[in-house]
Parts: sequence; structure tokens; C-alpha cells
Amino acid sequence: MSDWMKNVRDVQPYVPGEQPKCENVIKLNTNENPYPPAPGVQEIINQANTDSLRLYPDPEASVLVNALAEYHGVSTESVFVGVGSDDVLAMAFLTFFNSDKPILFPDITYSFYDVWAGLFKIPYEKPALKGDFTINIEDYMKPCGGIVIANPNAPTSIYEPVNNIERIIAAHPDAVVIVDEAYVDFGAESVLPLVNKYDNLLVVRTYSKSRSLAGLRIGYAVGNEALINALNSVKLSYNSYTMNMPSLIMGTEAIKDEAYFRDTLHKIVTTREHVKAELSGMGFSVLDSKTNFLFAKHESISAKYIFEELRKENIYVRYFNKPRIDNYLRITIGTDDEMAVFLDTVKKIKKSVDI
Ligand code: PMP
Repeated sequence: MSDWMKNVRDVQPYVPGEQPKCENVIKLNTNENPYPPAPGVQEIINQANTDSLRLYPDPEASVLVNALAEYHGVSTESVFVGVGSDDVLAMAFLTFFNSDKPILFPDITYSFYDVWAGLFKIPYEKPALKGDFTINIEDYMKPCGGIVIANPNAPTSIYEPVNNIERIIAAHPDAVVIVDEAYVDFGAESVLPLVNKYDNLLVVRTYSKSRSLAGLRIGYAVGNEALINALNSVKLSYNSYTMNMPSLIMGTEAIKDEAYFRDTLHKIVTTREHVKAELSGMGFSVLDSKTNFLFAKHESISAKYIFEELRKENIYVRYFNKPRIDNYLRITIGTDDEMAVFLDTVKKIKKSVDI
């Protein structure tokens, strides 16, 4: 072993869902939005002039920060933007979680939290969710270095009422509580209004799901001005130009079209409820989703088997070979046509096993 190897940072990387290289795939495995982004984004691309790309983008990302502040009715000093919410969350871990006390997040949640904690050498504990996958609030009432809650949670899809989250925030005035609201637009209530009441609350959002812009990589955080200031100091100590110019311009455009946004959300929620009912009729238990995906297990056929059979038909869903959830499938909501093919294929798989 070369000497330098002893000094390599020991990391356990996050494993993202597969991005298949082949065509004709029904891709229901990474919670992307099946509908295009707001039409104004396409217009910007049509009219794009590459000359401006000679210049560095604004390190303060002001155009996007201002637009988001106006959209949410907060001050511009309360908004931080990053390269997807992964970047925002990583910056927040690095900025706020420097205590010797462990940070807390549930045992079943977004699996990047462990990875950042490992990368930044942050001690952590993972209180177990209850049998129904809800949070045991009492687990979060002890002294800690910070807390991270995805609400609605992933991959379980369920949502914790805001008053429960508020109890956690209120119990820790001396620690930052991050609420990751990647999926909140699909029918959950946001804690965002609470940023005026609690200076330890950081709400993190993304353009990747409800805004159909996973490819652009835009995420943001809303919180007390002191929190945002601290985040910006760390960001500017690491990489000043995180947000590229096209993302700044298109991200600003995307939030102007509220009617298109609402329409897209409505379509996804309607399809979700239809697919949920169909799966329940086929012997699946399906959790009560407030996201753009379903978390479901079948009463007699293993999730791994269904996952593998669907894959043979070029239908990709997500399967986690992890304790407590290894009999569940996470199924992103696609278009009605995609979901009809998905349901049809599940029916066939079920029939082939029934015989
Ligand atoms: N939080 C949760 C709970 C997620 O599921 C995801 C998507 N993988 C993210 C954050 C990160 O999304 P993005 O970096 O695309 O904004």
C-alpha cells in the first residue's frame, strides 16, 4: 500500500438510482417529474446567446435569490441557493454541525445524510422510526448537535404534521434543525412560515421534483438571516461560483408560471392516487404518500422479485436492500400512459406467480 493511501479520506459514497443508458425505458426510479419544465424555460433556451457565458456568473446569485425571496415573501437575506438541494444540504451540514454531540435523523430517510455525516466527520445517531414509519417525537427531545428531518420523508413518502416538527424545532433553540422539503409541493404542509418564529430552522427545497428541473441542479434554503449568512461564508470559503449562469436565468423563469406549476402538481397527485388504488386492489399495501412516489409492498410477492421482473421489461423502479424496507418498492409517479404500462406489467407478474 502506497503511503499516500493511508491519508485518503475514508468515505462511503451515496448510491444514486440508476440512470439507464438504453432508450425506451419507463423510468420510475429517481423521483423525476415526467412533465417538462415551465414553457418559459424552453423559450429562454431558444433565445440563448452564448456570448454571456464568457463571464463568470454572479457569485451572490442575486437574480435567483431575489426571485425566490419574492416568491416566498421573505427577505433576500433569508435565501441561500446551491447546486441542487444536495449541495445546499452538504453546505448546511458543513456549516452548522460542528458540535461534539451527535446530530439526529431517522434510521429510514434520505441516505445521503449518513454520507455527509461520514464525509465531514460529524457524529450522528439514527433513532428508529415507529413500525408505521412515523417519527417518535420523544427521540428528538434530547441534547444533540443538530437535527435533519425530511418531510415528507423519503423513501417512505409519508408526512409528519407541522405541529410535530415544530415541537422538535422549539425544543432545540441551541441547535440547527434542517427540514428537507424536497417533496413538500405534492400535498404536504410546509414549515416555511415558521422561519420567522425560530432562528434555528433551515428549510431546504429543490427544483428537481415539482419544478421538473433535476437536470439544471437548483436547490435553495430559507432561514433566519444569520443562518443564511453563515452558509454563505462557508460557501464563499469553498467555491464562489456554484450557480452557473443558465441555471440562474432559467431558475428565475421557472417560478414565474404558477398556473403551469399547479397544473403539473395536480396531474401527478391525481395519477398517484389512481395508481395507489390500483396497487391496493392487487394486494399491495401502499403508504399514504404526500410525494411524487409511492412506497409499497405486496402481501405475498417479494419486492426484489417484482423489481427484477419489471426491469426485464425496461421498467425501472427503486429497490433498497436495507433492513426494514427490503420488501418495499419505491415507485415514482410518471405520466398516465407510463403508469398504465407499469400497472399492466405488475398485473402480468402477479398472474405468472399466481399460477
Ligand atoms: N432530499 C431528498 C429527501 C431527496 O429525495 C433528494 C433527491 N435525491 C434530495 C434531497 C436531493 O435532490 P436535488 O439534489 O436534486 O435537489
